[in-house]
Amino acid sequence: ARERYTAARPNSAAAHVRAKAVMPGGNTRTTLFYTPFPTAMAGGEGCHLTDIDGHRYLDLCGEYTAGLFGHSDPRIIAALEAAIARGLSLASVGEREAQFAEILCARFPSVERIRFTNSGTEANLMAIAAARGFTGREGILAMQGGYHGGVLTFVTGANPVNAPFPVTLAPYNDIDGTLSVIREKAGTLAAILLEPMMGSGGCIPATRDFLAALRAAATEHNIVLIFDEVMTSRHTLGGLQKLHGITPDLTTLGKYVAGGMSFGAFGGRADIMAMYEPGRLTHAGTFNNNVLSMSAGITAMGDIFDDSAAEALRARGDALRDALNATCAKHGASMQFTGIGSMIQPHFRLGDIIRPYVPSPAEEGLRELFFLDMMSAGIYIARRGMVALSLPVGESESAQYVAAVDPFCAARKPLLK
Ligand code: PMP
Repeated sequence: ARERYTAARPNSAAAHVRAKAVMPGGNTRTTLFYTPFPTAMAGGEGCHLTDIDGHRYLDLCGEYTAGLFGHSDPRIIAALEAAIARGLSLASVGEREAQFAEILCARFPSVERIRFTNSGTEANLMAIAAARGFTGREGILAMQGGYHGGVLTFVTGANPVNAPFPVTLAPYNDIDGTLSVIREKAGTLAAILLEPMMGSGGCIPATRDFLAALRAAATEHNIVLIFDEVMTSRHTLGGLQKLHGITPDLTTLGKYVAGGMSFGAFGGRADIMAMYEPGRLTHAGTFNNNVLSMSAGITAMGDIFDDSAAEALRARGDALRDALNATCAKHGASMQFTGIGSMIQPHFRLGDIIRPYVPSPAEEGLRELFFLDMMSAGIYIARRGMVALSLPVGESESAQYVAAVDPFCAARKPLLK
């Protein structure tokens, strides 16, 4: 399968060799690298991509959730063109920034005040800084296997060596285990940081009970509870916090919210966010309020991604996940798809998956084969298997994915037993 992948992509192979000569690993997003070399895309339209060797793909990667609106929504393109016509770098506060902030504060239950960044990574770092300033404590509790950005990667078993503050890790969805860590560390913890569904960790939803237990413990010990909804905010108009009815103290956002432009934001309780009133903590950033992200974001969130769009997307994702799991069951394959709504992750094992795990070599092999199979079927998914549906993906595209997964399950059956 690897030979076939390589033979079909001479231009991507050559592009990788060339890029490696000037960038370690050949790109500036470590997570995009995979062996033998990543496929380089030339462009996209709607929910389709074309690579530099001329292959066309159904795009189910959805830019790891940032591509919610597809590649060419005319309303977003028009908003960007209008912004470009008014000038790019104005070195000034602008009306668009406050307008975008109003839209987001109105949507997320926890968000009374908000600030913008250029990425989800920065949003988490700034939310943590607010929590540390507010509580006067140093430490952060995060989840084993959690991912919160390039410097906040807590892969199972690994030391969080990148984090610029002390981090303690706790087991996801394990109420007793996590509460006992919180009790032990309470006096040193500024914040508890977690995703209400692990995204990169494997599309593993938190139970409502787990989130409720963390909410109660954070309140009891005066620890700031931060939900990283960089990926999960798409599941309802007000994120997973709204679906669960559990309100964190701070929320971080990113990915699709600025319509595909670079973006991050953090917001929450007015008294905590007041740490960023003038004269207290600093949070600068030349492009934090750049007019392209602000303009595209106002259109994306104000005009396009409304309640009915969010509900329809979630329903479409749930239906696709059900169809995929029915396909696994039909073939008796030891494979399942987890997630919520439009975020879907294959796992090459049976049984409940409630926290991140390190795949066995056999599972890892199947994961690679799955990716290669999908690529040769013309379906672009993340190398690790994650799918994030975009709004242009309809029923026929969902059916195309199920039709590609079916023979994979059928052919691998003896291996999976
Ligand atoms: N938090 C989560 C949950 C993420 O999935 C990501 C990115 N995959 C980030 C934060 C970081 O966002 P960015 O890549 O924009 O820095």
